[in-house]
Amino acid sequence: MAPIEEQYEALEKKSLAYNPNLDVGRLRAAFDFANQHHEGQTRKSGEPYIIHPIAVAEIVAELGLDLDSIVAAILHDTLEDTPATHEEIARQFGESVALLVEGVTKLTRMQYVTKEEEQMENLRKMLMAMSRDIRVILIKICDRLHNMRTMEYQSPQKQREKSRETMEIYAPIAHRLGMQRIKWELEDTSLRYLDPVGYKEIDDELNRRSATHEAFMENIQKMVTERLSEEKVECTVYGRVKHVYSIYRKMYLQNKTLDEIFDLYAFRVIVSDIPTCYNVLGCIHDMFNPVLGRFKDYISTPKPNGYQSLHTTVIGRDGIPFEVQIRTAEMHNTAEYGIAAHWKYKQGLGNERLGSEETFEWVRKLLESQQDADPDEFLSTMKVDLFADQIFVFTPQGDVKSLPAGATPVDFAYSIHSAVGNRMTGAKVNGRIVPFETELQNGDIVEIITSKAAKGPSRDWLSLCKSNEARNKIRQWFKKERRNENIATGRSSFEAELKHQGLTLADITGEEILPNLLKKVRFGSLDELYNAIGYGGTSSVKSVARMKEELIRMDRAVAEKAALERLASTETELIMPSSAGNTVSRKPRKSQSGIIVEGLDNCLVKFAKCCTPVPGDPVVGFITRGFGVSVHRADCPNAVAAQQKPEEAGRWIKVDWVEGELSGYSTALELSAKDRDGLTLDVAMALSAAQVKVTSLSARAMPDGFAVVTIMVEVRDRGELTNVVNKLSQIPSVTQVKRAAG
Ligand code: MN
Repeated sequence: MAPIEEQYEALEKKSLAYNPNLDVGRLRAAFDFANQHHEGQTRKSGEPYIIHPIAVAEIVAELGLDLDSIVAAILHDTLEDTPATHEEIARQFGESVALLVEGVTKLTRMQYVTKEEEQMENLRKMLMAMSRDIRVILIKICDRLHNMRTMEYQSPQKQREKSRETMEIYAPIAHRLGMQRIKWELEDTSLRYLDPVGYKEIDDELNRRSATHEAFMENIQKMVTERLSEEKVECTVYGRVKHVYSIYRKMYLQNKTLDEIFDLYAFRVIVSDIPTCYNVLGCIHDMFNPVLGRFKDYISTPKPNGYQSLHTTVIGRDGIPFEVQIRTAEMHNTAEYGIAAHWKYKQGLGNERLGSEETFEWVRKLLESQQDADPDEFLSTMKVDLFADQIFVFTPQGDVKSLPAGATPVDFAYSIHSAVGNRMTGAKVNGRIVPFETELQNGDIVEIITSKAAKGPSRDWLSLCKSNEARNKIRQWFKKERRNENIATGRSSFEAELKHQGLTLADITGEEILPNLLKKVRFGSLDELYNAIGYGGTSSVKSVARMKEELIRMDRAVAEKAALERLASTETELIMPSSAGNTVSRKPRKSQSGIIVEGLDNCLVKFAKCCTPVPGDPVVGFITRGFGVSVHRADCPNAVAAQQKPEEAGRWIKVDWVEGELSGYSTALELSAKDRDGLTLDVAMALSAAQVKVTSLSARAMPDGFAVVTIMVEVRDRGELTNVVNKLSQIPSVTQVKRAAG
């Protein structure tokens, strides 16, 4: 028999082994189809090319995947490397197989560039998202595994490239899918090319020790088996040396020698059920000393990829530590084959046809049930990968961009930069010019053609993009562009109209005026107004007219307000009851008090009428019932008396003058003089000479021939008041001038 025929027979045998009802005719037909199409092609090793797809199909069969997957594996390179077409494959082997082959082909066509970790993660996501049907990625992983196994014929550069890609993309995905066995092999073969010296060092050392290792492992295996059979536990026990890459990592990351690595040896005890797992654990810990902190129960808390097992590390009699993994046969199957174990299991039950949806459901459930298992693991990302509405595309530089499903080149362009989007004149997908509405697919290489002369986005782009980012950036452009154009024309039109109305820009841009005027025309800023005038949203005539109207109204309002204030602040009570009726003047007092009240902002302040304090007087405040704070001179008899009242002690509060705040404080003076003709006139003249504002003046004749003149003056402060008092004291017949109190 020809070697190729022989290889095919082996594949058939393997496939039949786990699926006796297999449609052998279909398998054979796939082989014939691939064999014919790859006719004359050779691998780098010089062997006929067909050897590769059959070997890949064998690995797929070893994983226990369904017949469609095996057939697709046999055909996996026909689309890429032969004239075979999707239709042809679909006609002969069904649409499902054709889709699988096409999926694998797409992954094969992807070009990777080594990037930082974030980019690699995106690449992994993209691969998984592209695979739609999880079988695509499984076949691709088998393809990669066989290529790695036969990498020796490739150029050193190709070896390194493929190895890095395997280490960064395919091994992590295999891990994520729980396929430990394949993951290890991918890692070990990659390491061989990535660090040949490091790999050889470990491999040689392991080989050198292999006799010792084997004796050691045989011994332990025997001890454990004997002990467990005494306990009447049915089990399979076997030992192995850990794979090279895991030793390599430990040696280099933890800077350890081979002898210092705890987990060099791993033993597996496979039992029938979960309770037995814990029994066995007890026996192992009874036989050997466990290493503290090394026990892990992945049965009660499985790893996110579905891995379940008990792990413990113990120390043998000769002081050599080793790891023992205890699990059921089913757990073991999942540990070795991960997601693929699913098919094995199902096929054992005779369920041959498995849609990808059902698989997804299974994966999803698996993931959801283990959501909280281990935050370090990849659970959430994998879930996103398989089910989110996301696509991943490449820039021409090999960067991966994530976009919403259904995204177009417009989304892509704006995801790079708004300037790229705004200057876009064309787009290429996988090297071909495409219309802007083209829906991007996972793995597409997208290139945007830009031109500085580009006119900017068009309105219908808004309906072409799926991402908010693109939409927002397009809207922004429209707003901004219209602005720049329109503000200029709007402004000149507006200014011309102002001039026409006899106004200048300065008339309307006062800090207190402008906001009101803008409010009147309903714009947030002058630029917005100009913009609107520019594009015809409003007219300059209309807006200037409104503004002018408002200016007039505001002027009037200011005048009215001032009048009202004057009225409100005039304290009519200041006019003393007068027998002489000689009132001199009434002047408004400033409404602001010039007093700060401790702890109270903007509180209503009034000056006590009994003592009428002026700045410079020591003062105290009294919190009145409902009229704010009343300010007294500290020496006011009323205040002094009131402060004695314990029930009002809490109402007294510290107040002080604000310097330079105001000019007019009303205060009352009392002048005593021997009554005579012209006294009031003399007093009035003295006050005038002192240049002090008098708000009221009244004189009373007393029965004893004396007169008391009460004067309300408005002074700046105590100093000015003293000056007034001195002037008054010099008037003939005046006996006393004092401040009124009480
Ligand atoms: Mn291949």
